[in-house]
Amino acid sequence: MTDIAPHGLHHVTAIASDPQANVDFYTRVLGLRLVKQTVNFDAPDTFHLYYGDGAGRPSTILTFFPWRGVPAGRQGSGLTTATAFSVPPESLGWWQNRIAGLGIEHEGPRTRSGPTQDGEEVLTFRDPDGLVIDIVAAPGDTRSGWDGVASVPAEHAVRGLHSVTLSESVPEDTVAMLSGLLGMQPAGEDGDRARFAMAGGGAGAVVDVVADGRPRGLQAGGTVHHIAFRAPDRETQSRWRAELVAAGLHVTEIIDRQYFTSIYFHEPGGVLLEIATDQPGFAIDEPLLELGRELKLPPWLEPSREQIRAALPVLQVEQ
Ligand code: ZN
Repeated sequence: MTDIAPHGLHHVTAIASDPQANVDFYTRVLGLRLVKQTVNFDAPDTFHLYYGDGAGRPSTILTFFPWRGVPAGRQGSGLTTATAFSVPPESLGWWQNRIAGLGIEHEGPRTRSGPTQDGEEVLTFRDPDGLVIDIVAAPGDTRSGWDGVASVPAEHAVRGLHSVTLSESVPEDTVAMLSGLLGMQPAGEDGDRARFAMAGGGAGAVVDVVADGRPRGLQAGGTVHHIAFRAPDRETQSRWRAELVAAGLHVTEIIDRQYFTSIYFHEPGGVLLEIATDQPGFAIDEPLLELGRELKLPPWLEPSREQIRAALPVLQVEQ
C-alpha cells in the first residue's frame, strides 16, 4: 500500500468537434459556467474550454479539446464511457422534462440497484458530439453548482461531477490499481459494475468500473480523453508521483497547467489518468466575475497571442 489518496475527481477532459456547439450545449443546456477559455497548451491552435460551477471548483469541472473536423470516436473497452453529473434527487424529473423538451434523445431515468444501498436513479443522454452524459440523483450533495443560467433555477442546477464509468475488458487489473496503488475503497457492486470511492465517496468522488466485452474503443470526437483526480497541493502530488514511479509506472514530470499542476499515467486498461492539484484555480488570471469571457493564455504563450488568436474561431459566450 501507498499513501496515495486522491480526495475526489478533479476534472474530466473530452474531445469535441465544433467549439461553438460545445459552448452552447454545456452552458445553455446543462447550465454549467464556462470558467476558462484557453488553448491546449500542447497544441495551441486548439481551444481548451473548461466548464464548472461558479468558480470552477475541483470536482465540478468538465473540459474539452474541440478539434474541428475530428472524426467521431467509438465506444468500447479501454475508455471512459460515461461522465456523470450530480443533481438533487427531487430535480431529476425536472431534468428529464428539460432534456425531452429540448428534443434531446434520452434514456431513463432508470435505477441502478447495486452501487448504493437504496439504488440510484440515472438519466442518460449525449452531447452534440455523442459524449455520454449521465445525470444522477444524488442525495446529500452539498455543492451549490452555478446559478447564472436563467433557464436553470438554482435549486435544480447541476452540482458538479458525480462519477465516471471506465469500461474494461479485464476489469480486475483496473480494479487492482484503483483499490491498491490509488487507495480507493470498494463501494458496492451491481452486476458488471463495481464502484470505488475516494475520501469516503459521495458525489464527485466515485469511479465505476464495468466489464466490457466490446472491442477496444476509439478515442476521438465524443469520447473522454482523460480523467483527473485531486491532490491537495503540489508537495503531496510530488510525493505521490514518487510512489507511482517506485511502483514501476511511467509517469510524466509535474507539468504546469496554469490553473493546477499535473502528472499523467495510464491504468492497465489504457485509460489516461491525471492527478491535478486543487490550487491555484481559475481566478489566477482573471477576476471570478469575468471567468470564461476572454481568451486567456499562460505567460509562456502570451507572446504568440496574435498568431494563436488568428487560428481560432471567435466564440459567442453569453454569461
Ligand atoms: Zn486534465
